[in-house]
Amino acid sequence: MLTRDPKYRAFPQDTMFVVPPRGKASPEIDELWMQEALRAAQRALEAGEVPVGAVVVHGGKIVGRGYNRNLSDSDPTAHAEVVALREAGAAIGNHRLGDCELFATIEPCAMCAGALVHSRIRRLVYGADDPKAGAVHSVMRVLNHPGVNHHMEVRGGVLAGRCAELLQEFFRARRGR
Ligand SMILES: [Zn+2]
Repeated sequence: MLTRDPKYRAFPQDTMFVVPPRGKASPEIDELWMQEALRAAQRALEAGEVPVGAVVVHGGKIVGRGYNRNLSDSDPTAHAEVVALREAGAAIGNHRLGDCELFATIEPCAMCAGALVHSRIRRLVYGADDPKAGAVHSVMRVLNHPGVNHHMEVRGGVLAGRCAELLQEFFRARRGR
């Protein structure tokens, strides 16, 4: 069942249809998991990769963790979210992650949003919007598209300042080089 949830104010210009939460998601717990995603992003930064991080949470613990590894793996698909989803699938032993939540520091791109739909994930929480590639609502809408069967709960804007700051630091440093 889809409802308009007034809580999701991260999308002021565009009310999202969201699936009502089943578990006990709380803003404080979301921030704790986002801290973990930020820690992963920090590792990407240290490796000279675009600092994006993600974690997959299942039953109150992390089952997948990822950060961008495009350069280190010479892999155009090695975005943080995809890396975390692969690890979670292997940990759980299932390609469907219906009881999981994914926390990403940045709004997922079209590829990652597609992967999230394929994983049947229950909930996505992300930090900063990505005005260049975001596929939740910024550039296009892949998640919760009316034509797509699987809908998930989405919350954006969690620790958005810190998430965006990491990226800005990275691009600033690169320009200065
Ligand atoms: Zn991506």
